[in-house]
Amino acid sequence: MLVHKTPNQPTTKIRISPNLVFGDTSPAIIAGPCSIESFDQLLSIATAVKKLGAHMLRGGAFKPRTSPYAFQGLGEEGLKIMKKVGEMVDLPIISEIISTDNLPLYSSYLDMIQIGSRNMHNFDLLKKVAHLNKPILLKRGMAATLEEFLMAAEYILKEGNSQVVLCERGIRTFETSSRNTLDLNTLALLKLKTHLPVIVDPSHAAGNREIVAPLARAGLACGADGLIIEVHNQPEKALSDGPQSLTFKQFDSLISQI
Ligand code: PEP
Ligand code: MN
Repeated sequence: MLVHKTPNQPTTKIRISPNLVFGDTSPAIIAGPCSIESFDQLLSIATAVKKLGAHMLRGGAFKPRTSPYAFQGLGEEGLKIMKKVGEMVDLPIISEIISTDNLPLYSSYLDMIQIGSRNMHNFDLLKKVAHLNKPILLKRGMAATLEEFLMAAEYILKEGNSQVVLCERGIRTFETSSRNTLDLNTLALLKLKTHLPVIVDPSHAAGNREIVAPLARAGLACGADGLIIEVHNQPEKALSDGPQSLTFKQFDSLISQI
């Protein structure tokens, strides 16, 4: 299998920009809002996270929401805002793709493409996104085993795209006091089994901003190659995932802890 590590094989380095190489010695930090809500919102967040040490800006434009009545994202307008803001603050940008209909859009606007937890098993999307030849952040399905996660990545590698970063973002367990359970066992095992870089998303594991920093530290202690963190200028007013979004002050504190 292309995803598997041979004995002593180092972590594959995935270079996005001079300041961002996944699999390098220092952790890659992606930060930004769950959803792009407006130009002013994204510029405010991007300016803050860049100043505090983020290497890449995240933000959702086409959102996979549980309820069809919840905010679905700004769509292409969101991607346009993101491209402009990314250029203004000099940060590469990443956003989640949820449909093969949007492949041309994602190809033209983004530096890296996110496949979310809900689409990890969407093999048609995996194969077609692979052909854009852009770096891909593949998040673990919330009920996917380690082997299923690796095989989803294998679909992309098999198409000839080896620029894949994996992301552990918590799985569904019997425990409902947090949104998901960050699976550090699988993170540590992934570091043994695959040469691909693996990052951690403590925000979606936690569902609660108060435990994002300890989960982030735990992920790095278990060998994660980076973090993806939700940050918002006004978390209480966020149109998605406000409760787990860090304030600028909390993000600043997290960066100083790591
Ligand atoms: C997100 O990153 O906002 C997101 C929807 O994540 P996940 O796919 O892990 O739920
Ligand atoms: Mn989110």
